[in-house]
Amino acid sequence: TPPSHAVIGAGIAGLACARALADAGHDVTVFDKGRGPGGRMSSRRLEDGAIELGAQSFRAAHPAFREQVAAWVQAGVAAPWPDALWRLEAGRAARRADGHPRYTGTPRMSAVTRQLARGLPLHTGTRIVSLARAGNDWRLIDERGTTHGPFATVSLALPAPQAEGLIAPHAPELASECRQVPQRACWAAWARLEAPLTLPGAEANWPLLQFDAGPLKRVVRHRTKPGRGGAPELITLLADLDWSERRLEDAPDAVAVDLLGALNDALETLRPAASLPAVQARGAHRWRYAEPGAVAPGHDHRLTDAGLALCGDGWRGGRIEDAWLSGHHLGEALCHRHPLPDHGDFP
Ligand code: FAD
Repeated sequence: TPPSHAVIGAGIAGLACARALADAGHDVTVFDKGRGPGGRMSSRRLEDGAIELGAQSFRAAHPAFREQVAAWVQAGVAAPWPDALWRLEAGRAARRADGHPRYTGTPRMSAVTRQLARGLPLHTGTRIVSLARAGNDWRLIDERGTTHGPFATVSLALPAPQAEGLIAPHAPELASECRQVPQRACWAAWARLEAPLTLPGAEANWPLLQFDAGPLKRVVRHRTKPGRGGAPELITLLADLDWSERRLEDAPDAVAVDLLGALNDALETLRPAASLPAVQARGAHRWRYAEPGAVAPGHDHRLTDAGLALCGDGWRGGRIEDAWLSGHHLGEALCHRHPLPDHGDFP
């Protein structure tokens, strides 16, 4: 029988890896502790709309990823957004296009990862707590004590600090590489506003406001994303990473209040001044492993002779495109390492 492969982590990297294996005819099973696939690209359903608290959009520069994005656009799960970024400069809002086309998932970001996961055996709600080696096989043990396997290879598509503990007993050299890829934390607050958030000087459907300093890094208006027709004014407020790390242990609501206050303060500096509409609901989510503080040098994934592998954004660059490429390249390497028997057409 052909070898089976396990992938731990159903973020974009793990799914790209699993997809490359499955599309080449390999047997692959994916595990994730979350309720669904997506990881940092997941969307949260609120009573009257969906909201992204992690990644908001992605670029596509590498030819292989551009081809993948074109297929997503064709399938209706991604579309261009935003067409411009806004900044506050000298008391006014300024439109800044940086020339990089960007895309987002439609009708929500998680549509992209759901599309990648289609047809793949995926165990959600399954946190893997250890790996066991017997002969040439790997087995995975989840937090309920259930054993999964045997597998010929195990790919850890997780932020490096989460991969480190699983891999340390079996590949100490990879565990020490994981320690070179720390992850920064980020608070993401959200709010539902009673009225549209207007930015004096900006078009009515301005999508995204970038900040250069202060507690806020980015404010996103979800109703300006494609495919969100009729959605209420839901905004995400992403915090600066240094600010997030200083406030790491704070209560989510206190963080949401402070980030909304910072947005209101920024709006009041504009001429003419603006202010935040009434907040109908709010919350905040803490990403402990939001983005790599450093990227590992060399290849964009790791694969040992024993079939243990690592991929994810930290092994390439910290963006969705990097995570996809890292996972895709690992999937290709695993296909190459384990060629399937050739059942040629001729006897
Ligand atoms: P993840 O998406 O983190 O996937 C890892 C998965 O592993 C998760 O689903 C997790 O549940 C699972 N897992 C962890 N431990 C275990 C375990 N023990 N057992 C089972 N499962 C486990 N990138 C952009 O390109 N553009 C942006 O605008 C952008 N904005 C961002 C904003 C924020 C707030 C954040 C947090 C990230 C942002 N990023 C952005 C970065 C982007 O989201 C990531 O680079 C990318 O999604 C990483 O994918 P991944 O598959 O490597 O990891």
